[in-house]
Amino acid sequence: MLICPKCGHNLTPLTVKPDPESSMELDHCYYCGGVWFDHYEINRIGLTEAEKLASHKKMDNTSNYSGNNQCPRDNTKLLRKTGESIPQNVTVLSCPVCNGNFVTQKDLIHLKDAQSKRLDYFKAWNIPLPKLSSILISVLIFSIAIGGVFLTVRNVEKSQEARIKAKETISVPTIIVSSANSVVVSFTTTIPTQSSVVYKAEGEVEPHTIPISIEKSINHTVVLQNLTSQTSYTLKVYIEEVPGEIIGSPTYSFTTN
Ligand SMILES: [Zn+2]
Ligand SMILES: [Zn+2]
Repeated sequence: MLICPKCGHNLTPLTVKPDPESSMELDHCYYCGGVWFDHYEINRIGLTEAEKLASHKKMDNTSNYSGNNQCPRDNTKLLRKTGESIPQNVTVLSCPVCNGNFVTQKDLIHLKDAQSKRLDYFKAWNIPLPKLSSILISVLIFSIAIGGVFLTVRNVEKSQEARIKAKETISVPTIIVSSANSVVVSFTTTIPTQSSVVYKAEGEVEPHTIPISIEKSINHTVVLQNLTSQTSYTLKVYIEEVPGEIIGSPTYSFTTN
């Protein structure tokens, strides 16, 4: 049984549907209303789901909370996450080991409200999203780069079937070198999907990962910024064709001006 880090009660599995075609299982505390999200799950639910989650709750007296503030998966002490993707009045507790996140129901609604408002702003002004990390909690970035998802990617890529599928689903990206320090990458997919790009300068060890489409789309565009001039880079795009199954494109390369 997973234990709620906030109030010490048991967490119960609760199925939510981020969109009509997919569902995912969260660990929810019926006592305090808090929700535990494994690795990148927190970015997959919207405001409506957050509001629905808030309706499942027993208790309103916050003075009785006596949780251990530990990760329900591996008992690591949770740390408060900060960054421009998280409003100042919202507390997101994060596990440095498994990248899971714990949020109370009230904070979850504030967070999702802020995220959707920011997304609407970009959409309304027709601004491409150069910094999705300003909207999304960066857990996706870390989990793809170093965590379990990356292993999934590798495993999936071993199978030839998955390679063929990726080739059929993802178009060859157009890479426009727009300046010495940035490029625009765009591609299409045959099915609406979320996507991210992983890129790395020649000789660099740690790759950078940036989410591209956080809402399912067939058109994917991202601006890679803060690149080093006159440097060769390699990149690969990833899509989540079905929940939990991530497939990657072949590796492409470009050189900055
Ligand atoms: Zn609780
Ligand atoms: Zn953990």
